[in-house]
Amino acid sequence: MASSSIIDSRAIWDIIIVGGGPAGLSAALVLARARRRVLICDGGQPRNRSSNRIGGFLTRDGVDPAAFLQLARNELSAYDTVEFKQDTQVTTAASGEMGFELQTSSGETIIGRKVLIATGVTDQLPPVPKIDDFYGRSVWHCPYCDGYEHRDQKVAVYGRGRTVSALALELTGWTSRLTAVSDGPCGLSAGQRQRLKNNGIEVREDPIIGLAGNEGRLTHVVFASD
Ligand SMILES: Cc1cc2nc3c(=O)[nH]c(=O)nc-3n(C[C@H](O)[C@H](O)[C@H](O)COP(=O)(O)OP(=O)(O)OC[C@H]3O[C@@H](n4cnc5c(N)ncnc54)[C@H](O)[C@@H]3O)c2cc1C
Repeated sequence: MASSSIIDSRAIWDIIIVGGGPAGLSAALVLARARRRVLICDGGQPRNRSSNRIGGFLTRDGVDPAAFLQLARNELSAYDTVEFKQDTQVTTAASGEMGFELQTSSGETIIGRKVLIATGVTDQLPPVPKIDDFYGRSVWHCPYCDGYEHRDQKVAVYGRGRTVSALALELTGWTSRLTAVSDGPCGLSAGQRQRLKNNGIEVREDPIIGLAGNEGRLTHVVFASD
């Protein structure tokens, strides 16, 4: 435990930001401009790390996500009150006499008057064999980010019940070549099935045993019945 008597006040950050993705870096910019001493600790695992282009972000449409983060860090380097600890995980945090005491994966203790948590979210992918090989390359969760690049292409929509029917109907704005795949009973009501049918969307309930393709490019869903 650090003791107030041996801590130099300059070693205490005004704010420690945990997470150096777009959220943490945006906060750092505003805080730097408010003349705060800011330390950003980033574990280096951004949510979109499997993707190689950002879609729908004004002025950065199509930019590589890693390049985007580098641009943001470059902007922040103009502020001498901001420092980074890259590839550094914050492992524990506790409130102490001087503020918050955080431990990092490198065994260091850092102290901040305030802590801003910007650690993002972790996606839980459906239990489809090999999905990790394709996620962020040709398997997606957000049509607004990545639908445009697959416009008018064949698209399989994964899910059950209202989740799959609502998403499939939404996707008709991007392509008419849609198949709903539910990997077992689809849980659709008669009305939902009819709406899908009216929009030319086939429903396949056969169990899925895998995904096939090359270098992240999905060519087809493999069904147990194939
Ligand atoms: C496949 C995919 C494609 C996407 N495509 C787009 C797109 O085209 N357009 C778009 O606008 N959005 C897209 N997104 C969404 C976008 O990635 C998120 O909105 C964005 O990353 C959120 O930023 P964030 O800073 O909140 O979190 P993140 O970017 O996830 O950053 C959080 C950071 O915190 C770090 N961290 C977590 N815990 C700790 C800890 N204990 N200590 C230190 N650091 C920690 C992580 O390592 C990470 O670097 C996509 C997402 C995915 C999954």
